[in-house]
Amino acid sequence: MAAEYTPPDVEVLRYQTVLRQQQAAAEARCRRCGICCGANDDPCVHLRRQDDGQSWCDIYPRRLGTHTTRSGARFRCVEIRALPQGFWPGALHCAYRGKKFF
Ligand code: SF4
Ligand code: SF4
Repeated sequence: MAAEYTPPDVEVLRYQTVLRQQQAAAEARCRRCGICCGANDDPCVHLRRQDDGQSWCDIYPRRLGTHTTRSGARFRCVEIRALPQGFWPGALHCAYRGKKFF
């Protein structure tokens, strides 16, 4: 039986750094338009708007799951990559449209 491979700490740290960099690069691509959160019709109750017009989510690190829109509709917040490419409201404006993630 082959011995289990245990990567040295430096390799693990390098890998974690690359993942963090990829995540930051992917997040930076967002235009903060808020359209994927319903900004143009019935926004999620967690969607906030800055004075400069950009949007942000007030629970972003724990956003995934079921939430409510301002009109009371229930919906499930999913990762942007889980949305069908090009077939959701506002997709034409999304910076991730047609892009591969990781
Ligand atoms: S919970 Fe989801 S849908 Fe609601 S504002 Fe945050 S990211 Fe957008
Ligand atoms: S629609 Fe796309 S670009 Fe606009 S906030 Fe959502 S993820 Fe970002």
